[in-house]
Amino acid sequence: MAQTVFNPAPTPTIPVGGQAAFPVHRIFCVGRNYAAHAAEMGHAVDREAPFYFCKSAHDLLLSGHDMPYPPRTQDLHHEMELVVAIGASAQNIAVVDALDVVFGYACGLDMTRRDLQAASKDKRRPWDTGKDFENAAIIAPITPAADMGALETQVIELTVNGAVRQTAQLRDMVWSVAEIIADLSTLYTLQPGDVIMTGTPAGVAAVVAGDVLRGTVGALTPVETTIV
Ligand code: MN
Repeated sequence: MAQTVFNPAPTPTIPVGGQAAFPVHRIFCVGRNYAAHAAEMGHAVDREAPFYFCKSAHDLLLSGHDMPYPPRTQDLHHEMELVVAIGASAQNIAVVDALDVVFGYACGLDMTRRDLQAASKDKRRPWDTGKDFENAAIIAPITPAADMGALETQVIELTVNGAVRQTAQLRDMVWSVAEIIADLSTLYTLQPGDVIMTGTPAGVAAVVAGDVLRGTVGALTPVETTIV
């Protein structure tokens, strides 16, 4: 193989427990997956089919690190989400089998330049500049799936400076984790290292420099960052 003309960027990884690291392949994100959030964004719930957008794996910012306020926005929003880490390949997998390919779960923040996303929507352009930018995927260490327990009754919550901004149960998802994996596997051949951000509950809002964000899902390791 020819020598590369510069050193390639290292593969982003997410810690698993204290020892191992999960190498990230792709980051898929689900849109409008909680009815109350769809409503606050001006949309009805759509059970016709889930929809997706992507973030680069290189957008990853590990929980515990500060997030620099990004350029070209005056409306940076938090979106607290359950993150699913895929551990096996899957194509056209059935809903009943879909959780078998989950390696583990984590807390994550889908950070969004809402003003750029809104401008893209108005012009029927892609969302990339609103969603896919440096440090826009903040993810906490992964807990193995076997330690997660049943998903439905677990509470997802985000506080900003100690005040609750978002709270819901995972059963409030329009599309369940298994349904999302099954559907995504009809569009892509899912691979170990793929990560899915499963959508955000209602309560998204702007953050500013100095804000301290802390998101939890059940007993998973919290996702934490300070905007600087
Ligand atoms: Mn989101």
